[in-house]
Amino acid sequence: MARVFNFSAGPAALPLEVLEEAQAGLTDWQGSGMSVMEISHRSKAFIAVAEQAEADLRELMNIPDEYAVLFLQGGATQQFALIPMNLSDEGQTVDQLVTGSWSKKALKEGKNLRNVNIVADGGDSNYADVPARDQWKLTSDAAYFHYCANETIGGVEFHEPPDVGNVPLVADMSSTLLSRPIDVNKFGLIYAGAQKNIGPAGLTIVIVRKDMIKRGRPASDILNYAAHAEGGSMMNTPPAFAWYMAGLVFAWIKRQGGLEAMGEFNKSKANKLYAAIDGSAFYANPVALDYRSWMNIPFALAKPELDGEFLAQAEQAGLVNLKGHRSVGGMRASIYNAVRMEAIDALIAFMQEFEANNA
Ligand code: PMP
Repeated sequence: MARVFNFSAGPAALPLEVLEEAQAGLTDWQGSGMSVMEISHRSKAFIAVAEQAEADLRELMNIPDEYAVLFLQGGATQQFALIPMNLSDEGQTVDQLVTGSWSKKALKEGKNLRNVNIVADGGDSNYADVPARDQWKLTSDAAYFHYCANETIGGVEFHEPPDVGNVPLVADMSSTLLSRPIDVNKFGLIYAGAQKNIGPAGLTIVIVRKDMIKRGRPASDILNYAAHAEGGSMMNTPPAFAWYMAGLVFAWIKRQGGLEAMGEFNKSKANKLYAAIDGSAFYANPVALDYRSWMNIPFALAKPELDGEFLAQAEQAGLVNLKGHRSVGGMRASIYNAVRMEAIDALIAFMQEFEANNA
């Protein structure tokens, strides 16, 4: 069966080369007569895989030694809770910016644990824009400032980290990490569920400045970043296969020319699709120009009664997973690193044909 053009928001398309590499070694990995899934995470062979993956990620992102890189489980959702537990004390104020569904979920968990100051909330624009920086109400001694760098559902992305003075920046980068270069030095903590640009679901990456974490806060080691860092993310059995797959993806990104090249590629893909949407009276993207995501592009049809027909015909044309999130409807094209220009061209051609037949 031929591969389709997959626009899934996550778990999302992976590079075919990576899938084929994993397939080639699936039953007899490196001549061991076993798969990488069937060996101890403490074996020499797996430790080499794990260390190489971390080294490649550090190289790709230029991560300074002052930062720990953790390979955890629990998804980005678990980090919504672990961040307040690890980076602040009870009673301390934390700042949170609300720009859509995911930062709202992080807010709910933050409020369960800490005194949260909502810096600003994009609700007035229906989360199609970010409130102007001069309207933000920052706390000068907040433990940290949390924001979602790319709202996967609404398609609202920060193209530069916000300036919040000396308060450490904490970013949910689940759907933007590895899509372009970022200056890690500007952040206290960056986290991402793997299932978009990194690899299969089950792995969560946390990059955290070591001086911000300590043993004892929180008391449970399994919830404690410092304990995970000391244990090399192997306090217990890590998501070994997902870690291995992430390593293959990191090596693939290096072969593509690293994050500079990835950024140029992603920008040109997104610009092409936005130009097609903006150039048509039949399709519309609601997001403010400065915050349009390179990764997730929602769009609505002028005749929403044709949504079902659009999706059915798209699928027949080999373009799948274009349905918008159930909370917002319409369409969404997620165009992460592994989505090639050929997929963008096929989508645009299909959209134009559908418009010609239905406008
Ligand atoms: N944050 C963002 C920006 C996301 O896109 C997602 C998942 N789509 C999450 C958090 C939640 O991730 P997980 O399902 O890995 O907990």
